[in-house]
Amino acid sequence: QKAEWAKLVNEKTVSRDGYRVELAANIGSPDDVKGVLENGGEGIGLYRTEFLYMGRETLPTEDEQFEAYKTVLERMEGKPVVVRTLDIGGDKELPYLSLPKEMNPFLGFRAIRLCLDMKEMFRTQLRALLRASIYGNLKIMFPMIATIDEFRKAKAILNEEKERLKEKNISVSGQIEVGMMVEIPSSAVMADCFAKEVDFFSIGTNDLIQYTLAADRMNERVSYLYQPYNPAILRLVKMVIDAAHKEGKWVGMCGEMAGDEIAIPILLGLGLDEFSMSATSILPARSQISKLSKKELAVVAEQALTMSTADEVAGLIRSIL
Ligand code: PEP
Ligand code: MG
Repeated sequence: QKAEWAKLVNEKTVSRDGYRVELAANIGSPDDVKGVLENGGEGIGLYRTEFLYMGRETLPTEDEQFEAYKTVLERMEGKPVVVRTLDIGGDKELPYLSLPKEMNPFLGFRAIRLCLDMKEMFRTQLRALLRASIYGNLKIMFPMIATIDEFRKAKAILNEEKERLKEKNISVSGQIEVGMMVEIPSSAVMADCFAKEVDFFSIGTNDLIQYTLAADRMNERVSYLYQPYNPAILRLVKMVIDAAHKEGKWVGMCGEMAGDEIAIPILLGLGLDEFSMSATSILPARSQISKLSKKELAVVAEQALTMSTADEVAGLIRSIL
């Protein structure tokens, strides 16, 4: 198997019936890029920038961030790199911000909520990204968007920073796509409205599952409710993909589900455009997809959407694999 996978390192990802998708990787630091390229990643689908901010006493400066983003973009040599703006809070804390303890951190002051409040910190990150944009194919996405208003505010701040840099004659790429994570059920339900304003979506199933089934992703006792194949999740994913495609936008997925052997056939059938996963899952996924028919799976996926339980869905997929 290893030998078969190795042959696929420089190949594109194409289904048995000729349908092309993109397999990208999730990374946390510039050092991860090497592994992405060695494993045949066609891009970075999620650069979690939190790690730049963690394990230190103060905020990273604009220049420190600029160097990290530039390094990733250069090493990826023009392949797409989706950078997620700071997603702190929930399970990821920053002691030096001394934020008050919350009853429900996963439902609290985190990610884009925090960035829209701590604007200088947010603007610093956006400037670093904009300055780095000329070194590759940068796409920016905002985490934990719950309302259109939040997306508009975040994008307006990004555009302000872009204009300011241009006034100072600092070059910024003119091709930066701006998208959002879909990881809160409200944004999946409203995907048709969001789709008119974003350049792309990336579905964050780690959080989308936790919020849809109201089951803490870290809590063992409710882990039985953490069900990627629950038809409720599949229906939300379908809504997002259909809404995006109607507006001519692309959809990725960067939660764990995107690299899952049972989920991949369903996601291919539903028309997902980009799958972002840990680097080591890319070659197995490319091999799997090369043996699947997108046309046949579109029918299977429709059938899965009518089922009542996650177990039925998993049983259906196992029966065809
Ligand atoms: C997700 O929620 O699916 C996701 C990719 O983000 P994180 O795991 O960093 O919350
Ligand atoms: Mg998330």
